[in-house]
Amino acid sequence: MITMNDVVREGHPVLRKVAEPVSIPLSDEDRNTLTSMLEFLKNSQDPELAEKYDLRPGVGLAAPQIGISKRLFAVHSMDENDKLYSLGIANPKVISHSIEQNQLENGEGCLSVDREVEGIVPRHARLTIKGIDHNNEEVTLRLRGYIAIVFQHELDHLDGVMFYDRIEGLEDPFKQPVPGYAL
Ligand code: ZN
Repeated sequence: MITMNDVVREGHPVLRKVAEPVSIPLSDEDRNTLTSMLEFLKNSQDPELAEKYDLRPGVGLAAPQIGISKRLFAVHSMDENDKLYSLGIANPKVISHSIEQNQLENGEGCLSVDREVEGIVPRHARLTIKGIDHNNEEVTLRLRGYIAIVFQHELDHLDGVMFYDRIEGLEDPFKQPVPGYAL
């Protein structure tokens, strides 16, 4: 099972890589990655298991966060209407999104970031994504509100983007200096 020891933290280069698409239908290995990420999220939200295994509660986890540079992530969360989104998704693609933006009032957090980062993270208010779920079925999800933000946070992980990259005026403390000539 995945524990916090498997979760790579900011500063690790895998979090900055563009992850590779996986082949469809999913291999057993990729399906296992999806289901174990989903299991981690469920465990992390179970107070007893979270305490027993020292898990930080999470609603989303992307494969690069466990050191696997593949386009896979899992979400286990309710939306504002108590509809449960609980799935692993492979090769997700944004089909369309609103121009209108939205944000979490208290900013975002990340299992790979062990500190509070204040600031508004602008996101699309609505988006539609397509992908292959952990049962090898094609899924289309029309998302809005909180759950749309969760999915956009995870999508970013597949492109090497951290949530704080989107906060205006904030520097990544782990950013490597760009090699080149001094001026
Ligand atoms: Zn994250």
